[in-house]
Amino acid sequence: MDNPVPTPEMRVDNIITRLQTTANAFVAITKELDLDMVLQLIADSAKQVANSRYAALGIVDEQGVISFFITSGISKEERELIGALPRGHGLLGLLIKEGQPVRVRDISKDPRRCGFPPNHPPMTSLLGMPVSIEGKIVGDLYLTDKIGKSEFDDEDEWWLNLFARQAANAIINANLYNKARQAQKNAQALAEVVGSLNQFTEPHALFDQISKATCQILGLPAAAVFMLDEQVARFSLQAGIGLKQNSDDDTFLPLKGSVAGEVLEQARTKVVSNLTQLDEIYVPYLASGKLPDSLIVVPIREYGKINGVIEAYSQVARQFTPDEIALLEAFAVKASLALEKANLFHQKEEFLSMTAHDLRAPLSAIKMSSGLLAANLPEDFPPLLSQLVENITRNSERLDNLMEDLLDLNRLENGRVHLNLERCEAGELINAAVNSLNPLFEEKSQLLTYTTNSHKCWIVVDRKRMDQILVNLLSNAHKYTPTGGKVTVALDTSESSVVIKVSDNGPGIPPKEQNLIFDRYYRRPVHEQESKISGTGLGLPITRNLVNLHEGKIWVESTPGSGTTFFVQLSIAPFET
Ligand code: ADP
Repeated sequence: MDNPVPTPEMRVDNIITRLQTTANAFVAITKELDLDMVLQLIADSAKQVANSRYAALGIVDEQGVISFFITSGISKEERELIGALPRGHGLLGLLIKEGQPVRVRDISKDPRRCGFPPNHPPMTSLLGMPVSIEGKIVGDLYLTDKIGKSEFDDEDEWWLNLFARQAANAIINANLYNKARQAQKNAQALAEVVGSLNQFTEPHALFDQISKATCQILGLPAAAVFMLDEQVARFSLQAGIGLKQNSDDDTFLPLKGSVAGEVLEQARTKVVSNLTQLDEIYVPYLASGKLPDSLIVVPIREYGKINGVIEAYSQVARQFTPDEIALLEAFAVKASLALEKANLFHQKEEFLSMTAHDLRAPLSAIKMSSGLLAANLPEDFPPLLSQLVENITRNSERLDNLMEDLLDLNRLENGRVHLNLERCEAGELINAAVNSLNPLFEEKSQLLTYTTNSHKCWIVVDRKRMDQILVNLLSNAHKYTPTGGKVTVALDTSESSVVIKVSDNGPGIPPKEQNLIFDRYYRRPVHEQESKISGTGLGLPITRNLVNLHEGKIWVESTPGSGTTFFVQLSIAPFET
């Protein structure tokens, strides 16, 4: 039965209560920015304001199909039992299609209904309101089962209309917030991948990283980098992810008939959303064996001139949003800079190693001559001049070592060093290195000791290279530890590995520099300034490369002011049968 007709005082009271509830609801939904939460709050608040048993909010996609559905007044279990989302036919469809409010006294008797799905709780009265943003319907908000009355009235409709408008604003805000959050995430992702590019100084490793990062940025399965070969007028593949292997056709792209060619000609990004609509276009096959359906191609530039492209592929036809395009273009600018840097680095290294190579012959002649001169000086030769001869010998020796280190590191980094592996006894190798360097330590009144927890321990190593590792670490300990200091070599063995520790009680290395010291040319600023401790910053990079070549591990632990320990871990040789 309907409630009795309210008196004017009751109506005023009712309006005030509704106004308060509505105002509270508006504050709540505009304060929240997470889209899911906003939608739930809208449904909950609408139900409360209109005093209905149930409320629901459906969001439709571009095709007008309900893609998102929030309910209020139905338990989670009940929702699960109902199952699929409403199809948007019947009364709900009407709301979306016609954009007009719908008010029904008894759903089951309305000719426009198309029935509830199984397990749906029975519902009688209904009031529905389209939710539109800028004249476009984005969803529908509806209430069912007016509490205390048999149907919704004009006043309810007026309130719900007001509510739907506010709901639309809250949805716009939440969407904007989500967009801003996504843009921030994109910027963060971009910063991370760009940071990762700067670690690479070798162009091919960089090409690989650019392809990987492209997939990561756009969430796509495949990407490739092609560089322009002007002499033969085509692009050639440098690196690819998610592409079919070993297909020669995919290694090159002609300038005519490829999207990359168009990018070069028009000097701008090209997007193809549906490749199947184009005739004859060169694109590589994906790992799935199929051609991609969509791709985006952005230019790579060297000193402002296009010299390559990054291509990103989608297996299925899709659009690329302006945000995605802008993101990839921003990435391509950073990738271009990283490539310029890597190319310069590569050229510098080539130049250095060529120079080092060419300088070695005349340097050997100087070394030999000064050696002969020193050995044959007349007895009455003035001491000052003898000192000069000694200087020539010592410095040409240092220069020769520097050249050797430069060439050695280049060979190591280019994979041109091969190990001469043999079974060696670890203690014996350490003893040899310690004995050869002992006189040097004595000159500086330093105490060099060797301790071990085992008798004999066999490792498979290149004897010469292992000696180089030990001598590098010991020479550093000697060089950086002050006069009278202590240096200890210790050998710890376990079942599967040996750990050689070289410890000193020198100045130590601050934590933030402990990784940097393994980089090429890195010298601690304090040592850079002190000319009395000379060095090149090549010793540790060579040592690390050598340890890696032995499939071992090297690391450092150090406390500034107390000393430094370098650790080298190597596998134990299997027992000989
Ligand atoms: P170099 O000794 O020629 O400078 P390295 O590559 O061997 O080059 O070492 C890099 C830097 O690491 C050194 O310049 C020094 O600052 C630091 N370092 C290496 N070993 C030690 C050590 N035992 N104690 C303190 N600092 C060290």
